[in-house]
Amino acid sequence: MKKTTATRGVILACGGFEWDMRLRQYLLAAPLEAAASPPFNDGDNLRLAAMAGSELSRLDQAWWAPLLHEEGELNEGQPMFRTTASERALPGSICVNSEGQRFTNEAANYNDFVRAMFQFDPLNYLHKDANRTTWLVFDHLFKNRYAVGSVMPSAPAPNWMIKASDLDSLAVLIGVSSDTLKSTVGRFNEMAREGVDEDFGRGRTAHDRVWGDPNDGVNASLGTLSEPPLYAVRLYLGALGTNGGPTIDARARVLNLDGQPIPGLFACGNACASVMVSYPGSGASIGAAATFGYLAGQTATTS
Ligand SMILES: Cc1cc2nc3c(=O)[nH]c(=O)nc-3n(C[C@H](O)[C@H](O)[C@H](O)COP(=O)(O)OP(=O)(O)OC[C@H]3O[C@@H](n4cnc5c(N)ncnc54)[C@H](O)[C@@H]3O)c2cc1C
Repeated sequence: MKKTTATRGVILACGGFEWDMRLRQYLLAAPLEAAASPPFNDGDNLRLAAMAGSELSRLDQAWWAPLLHEEGELNEGQPMFRTTASERALPGSICVNSEGQRFTNEAANYNDFVRAMFQFDPLNYLHKDANRTTWLVFDHLFKNRYAVGSVMPSAPAPNWMIKASDLDSLAVLIGVSSDTLKSTVGRFNEMAREGVDEDFGRGRTAHDRVWGDPNDGVNASLGTLSEPPLYAVRLYLGALGTNGGPTIDARARVLNLDGQPIPGLFACGNACASVMVSYPGSGASIGAAATFGYLAGQTATTS
């Protein structure tokens, strides 16, 4: 067989390691339950870069995202998970943890929302387990107005959408204290009527309101949950993809442990350590992947 040799260089563009169960368990800062990417990104970026002597960084990080699963939906033979954004920001929904309490601004960007799902608890010396099981809770008015996952407003509630005639019954079905859930919803409804979320500031920023409903109420992201039946959908601690790996420089060259470029090796996108320490906003992940993919190609062909 004819041997093929890369003459200008090798560009790692094979995504992250979110589908390698062992790597994600040992490396990530949080116990990842779900990935929204197709299941082929299984850590070849780390294996190949490590073999070439690359420095690896930000290995505990991902583009975190709270994901929902529609029963039976598969992607390349694996359970498919969908992203959530408007579901958390539109008026008439809240997110509660396994204790029936709100724990963050639901309308926050997906990356920051998940960070609240794995807060470190210094009293128990654990990540705060209560927030790992998160429920999106909404009322009938919300269900009739807005899409949840692929379920359009007029469509009947599917099996995976838990439905109950009141908050007491919903609490039983999702396994939280009914008194706590009623008190959480009661307080939220009071704040929604005033249009100010005093607890977590939901609806305060332009980001939250863009994902909300400008035609509704005093705050585009706040609305009461009052019209039965009530619904709940489980949100999973997930990611769009991991974003740690070989460290690159401004020309997409992979660096060794001395900070020097490894000749002929480039990386971009989720295959390399993200050039951003946080999530600046929509498009940041694809934008950076495309930019550094371009730079990698340009550097490889001109140097
Ligand atoms: C559901 C979803 C919605 C998103 N929405 C947005 C958005 O709105 N805006 C935004 O900016 N970002 C969004 N993202 C994130 C964005 O898609 C990723 O950041 C981006 O695709 C990363 O690009 P990439 O090329 O590094 O990796 P990928 O797009 O994952 O591509 C990696 C490719 O490498 C292939 N591969 C893996 N191993 C090998 C191998 N050994 N040999 C050959 N090929 C291999 C994989 O099959 C895959 O095709 C979203 C992600 C998901 C999952």
